[in-house]
Amino acid sequence: MIPGPFAYHRPKSVSEAVSMLSDLGEDARALAGGHSLIPMMKLRLATPAHLVDLAGIDGLTFIRADGADIVIGAMTTQHALIGSDLLASKVPLLREAALVIADPQVRYAGTLGGNVANGDPGNDMPAVMMCLDATYEIAGKSAGRRIPARKFYQGAYFTALEAGEILTAVRIPAPPAGHGFAYEKLKRKVGDYATAAAAVMLSMSGGRVAACSIGLTNVAETPLWAEEAGSILAGSGLDAATVKKAVAAAEAITAPATDARGPAHYRTKMAGVMLTRALARAKARAGA
Ligand SMILES: Cc1cc2nc3c(=O)[nH]c(=O)nc-3n(C[C@H](O)[C@H](O)[C@H](O)COP(=O)(O)OP(=O)(O)OC[C@H]3O[C@@H](n4cnc5c(N)ncnc54)[C@H](O)[C@@H]3O)c2cc1C
Repeated sequence: MIPGPFAYHRPKSVSEAVSMLSDLGEDARALAGGHSLIPMMKLRLATPAHLVDLAGIDGLTFIRADGADIVIGAMTTQHALIGSDLLASKVPLLREAALVIADPQVRYAGTLGGNVANGDPGNDMPAVMMCLDATYEIAGKSAGRRIPARKFYQGAYFTALEAGEILTAVRIPAPPAGHGFAYEKLKRKVGDYATAAAAVMLSMSGGRVAACSIGLTNVAETPLWAEEAGSILAGSGLDAATVKKAVAAAEAITAPATDARGPAHYRTKMAGVMLTRALARAKARAGA
């Protein structure tokens, strides 16, 4: 349970951090809250020779409105997401999801940037970001770039981030006023990763679904955006038959591992149950 040896670096700016990461190459890893990376180092599942700590960089911790978007700095903690009045009023789905991540101790240190950049399918925020159609702002040694969350995840612990790049912020288009939302997570005990979880955001007009977006957590090698399921629901009144069809479409794109959280078939079915519950709660909240 003791990590291997590593050198510790504490850059003062984003440009210094990306220069360090580029120069040190594959042997270096960014360090944010350390609540995924350090446990992996203790288990020797990660053995970076260099840690580049982002904690000394000003300007990566903020939550603000920018036109029609809400922008959140990568080093903003999960605890800060829960306490933000701006998020509570504009993107309440984020607060709801942050509240079921781990426990308060982890949330005091764990960051949004670390949660979404980690690439662990068990992390809760990636599917939420896909559901919200968020974009990740990336800094590298050359020009910065933006990557939609829906295109970021390529495999377990494998993302579109390239060596030497860091995620600096998450940009979320503010959902329409009166939208419905819910994050439903099945876990074995408080503080656990999801056996399966579903994020839903929808807007209703005249009793019908005007738009619906669905993200699924920990039921494949990557978080999933259930595009077809959302399309099936669009235009419906969320009647039982249409919900059943959409849930079946969502279940069909899952490919969970059989592990300590249960056999693959069970986890797929639990994704369906979480989605059914999330849709019902989102509907009840829409227009409220
Ligand atoms: C007991 C326990 C229970 C947990 N339960 C949950 C849970 O239920 N749900 C959940 O979602 N998470 C859970 N976590 C994980 C927790 O949310 C982590 O804090 C989070 O996954 C990573 O954030 P971090 O800031 O700690 O990142 P770190 O651990 O510092 O980094 C994680 C990875 O992301 C990279 N990284 C970090 N920041 C950046 C950046 N800005 N740019 C590029 N790369 C970056 C690092 O190099 C590393 O590879 C749990 C952790 C523990 C210890």
